[in-house]
Amino acid sequence: MQQVVIIGAGMGGLAAALRLQAHGFDVTVLEKQPRPGGRSSVIEECGFRVDTGPTILVMKDAFEDTYRAIGENLNERVEFVRLDPNYRIYYHDDTHLDLYSDPAKLAEEVERVAPGSGAQLARFMADSAAKYALGMAFVERNYTQITDLANPVALRRLLQTRAYQNLYRQVARAFGGSDKLAKAFSFHSMFLGLSPFEALAMYSLITYADLALGMWYPLGGIYRIVEDMLHLAQQMGVTVRTNAPVEQICIEAGRVRGVRLASGEEVPADIVVSNADLPYTYRHLVAPEHRRSYPDARLERMDYACSGYLLYLGVDRTYPHLQHQALYFSEDYRANLDAIFRTRTLPDAPSFHLNVPTVTDPSLAPPGHSLLYVLAPMPNLTAGIDWEAAAPVVREKLLAQLERIVDPDIREHIVWERDYRPTDFLHDFNAAHGTAFGSLSHGFFQSAYFRPHNKAPDVDGLYFVGQGTYPGIGLPMVHISSRLVTERILEEWS
Ligand SMILES: Cc1cc2nc3c(=O)[nH]c(=O)nc-3n(C[C@H](O)[C@H](O)[C@H](O)COP(=O)(O)OP(=O)(O)OC[C@H]3O[C@@H](n4cnc5c(N)ncnc54)[C@H](O)[C@@H]3O)c2cc1C
Repeated sequence: MQQVVIIGAGMGGLAAALRLQAHGFDVTVLEKQPRPGGRSSVIEECGFRVDTGPTILVMKDAFEDTYRAIGENLNERVEFVRLDPNYRIYYHDDTHLDLYSDPAKLAEEVERVAPGSGAQLARFMADSAAKYALGMAFVERNYTQITDLANPVALRRLLQTRAYQNLYRQVARAFGGSDKLAKAFSFHSMFLGLSPFEALAMYSLITYADLALGMWYPLGGIYRIVEDMLHLAQQMGVTVRTNAPVEQICIEAGRVRGVRLASGEEVPADIVVSNADLPYTYRHLVAPEHRRSYPDARLERMDYACSGYLLYLGVDRTYPHLQHQALYFSEDYRANLDAIFRTRTLPDAPSFHLNVPTVTDPSLAPPGHSLLYVLAPMPNLTAGIDWEAAAPVVREKLLAQLERIVDPDIREHIVWERDYRPTDFLHDFNAAHGTAFGSLSHGFFQSAYFRPHNKAPDVDGLYFVGQGTYPGIGLPMVHISSRLVTERILEEWS
């Protein structure tokens, strides 16, 4: 039986472990942290249970596919609630817009915010559906050579939808110049660590996936899925070891032989799949003589995604006026995004994502309490921000906005609090430059064929799974990545 070592128990690592074990490989997962899950982790303290990373589940089919591949049914094992509206959007001028999946309700909302825009919405959604079809043609496949990009149907869709244009400008034009609607229908690129002012219009496909395919909440939170995958892993005979940081991938004569842990222990393997950040893996786990295609200079030139500051609050009140998910857009949204992506400075007025899962799932907090999760995108660590000094400043700004949106007396009702900083992403997960959602941003030259491949070019038996390789960032993408790397390994090893 061939031995596989997977470095990292993120969602991608776990999904690959399940799939490979089901195909008869003998899989061991080695995770540096005390708890599996990676960026999809959880804190359980004082009666609160908070997902620390992802909270939004879209493209549910990608998750279901992992379960189908091992003969299981996700929907029989985890209970899901569909969210609608997907988000409430708060603008700086105290107005709001609810982004519904229900097309009729969504049309009413956009008409309320910008009269006459209902027809524009229908055109925008049809156009975004075409971009989704275009994008998925490049997402759902492995790449070997550049000609794999040649696809006449996709080229026609690319030209029809002008997916190569600038995202924010195209969306603003689609909604007759309405800044409020342009923000509401373009911010989704932030989930890939891309500013809508810099992203390709192609990424309207995420808006489509969100609104048309639906958004789900697994009861117990996203970590409930990680727990279930761990349970299945145990049943299937996968070995998952925590507190087991890998220090080196052992390579002899151009082939992997296993890995060496920080403790000095060597774990032999025929195949190593790294779920740790790809740039980190090459730089720190593969000796330079075995990565001529990925020297330090190339890794430095890559374009890294943004980071984030998170505040988790337990409060001794409930808030019937809140939606499960919300976004707050600061007055100078452009300046906020430029600070994150261009000038790389601490944003003066951060925009943020507010998740209040207790609206749907009160079991996450003691009775009569609420859980608030606030995520403000921030520059990554290349900005050189001193986070010991910056964290209290950002916290104060976020609380000032929560006083407006949630509760003017919120400070008096906080009974539990934790934060999470860009430095924590580096320390906990070896996230390159403390990037939050994933390491490599999704510009054209870091997507599809141009994203680092899931097979190392210079070492036999070394593969990648997760956000660092294709298709890229986000939970559905890392599930698809687990399928792609499994297909690749099966082609080469069976
Ligand atoms: C705050 C936040 C909010 C997000 N929101 C969403 C969302 O709502 N929806 C969504 O779809 N996505 C979201 N994302 C993105 C999503 O969480 C990630 O893209 C995805 O979880 C990445 O999974 P992965 O399997 O690639 O790896 P990771 O989760 O990054 O896991 C990699 C694992 O490797 C381990 N590791 C690293 N180095 C070593 C080593 N040397 N030895 C052993 N183990 C090692 C790490 O500890 C980690 O456990 C969010 C991310 C963050 C941080």
